Amino acid sequence: MPTLDAISQDIDHCAQRAGRPAGSVRLIAVSKSQPAAAIAALAAQGQRAFGENYAQEAMTKIPALATAGLEWHFLGPVQRNKARIVSAHFDWLHSLDSLPLAHSLARHLQTAGRTLEVLIGVNSLEDGTKQGLTREAVPAFLDGFLADPALARVLHLRGLMTIGPHQAPADTSARCFGALRDTLETCARRFALPQFDQLSMGMSDDYRIAIAEGATMVRIGRALFGERPRKA
Ligand SMILES: *Cc1c(COP(=O)(O)O)cnc(C)c1O
Repeated sequence: MPTLDAISQDIDHCAQRAGRPAGSVRLIAVSKSQPAAAIAALAAQGQRAFGENYAQEAMTKIPALATAGLEWHFLGPVQRNKARIVSAHFDWLHSLDSLPLAHSLARHLQTAGRTLEVLIGVNSLEDGTKQGLTREAVPAFLDGFLADPALARVLHLRGLMTIGPHQAPADTSARCFGALRDTLETCARRFALPQFDQLSMGMSDDYRIAIAEGATMVRIGRALFGERPRKA
């Protein structure tokens, strides 16, 4: 298993090869199905940002690690009844994909006196799942979002997230990630969004390709923690 240091160095090398400074790509350690002790072990080595997919599971771990000063990223689809948990305990959401969800999160955030950094989840796989917007649907979503100023007060729109094609040839992955970068740049210009500059793309098997295509955050689970136990 590569160490945290080895992966961090590899990420920096990939960034530099792409003409960007070391430190410009953040590592989100994806700790779903890992026990709190495994998270604490990485935190002790200096890792701050952790990603979880399931609200219920995260709630068994986040309180146990409350003193560690960690930053929590929610990566999975947010079921309607989990918006409160996400608003109360997470710093980033990578998978905003509907206005009803935005309104629900905003209500909970206002009540809690919190804000959330958000990425719009984009479905690049065209696999028929309802999860994530198509790239083409992002501008209409932004129109709807920006029409209600109350949303932007608590939900800070920071960019886009996607999951690349599974075990695809490198050029297929690169096209997918490059298309997401184009969508980000087009939307940031068209909607004059100053902080809409984050691209969350790349996982254990394709993060090098994603960094070459402009990723600013990579979400890595198995390469850091080892294979996940079968039951999450
Ligand atoms: C599980 C997961 C990851 C991490 O995947 P690995 O292949 O373990 O690196 C990243 N992003 C999302 C959305 C995930 O669900």
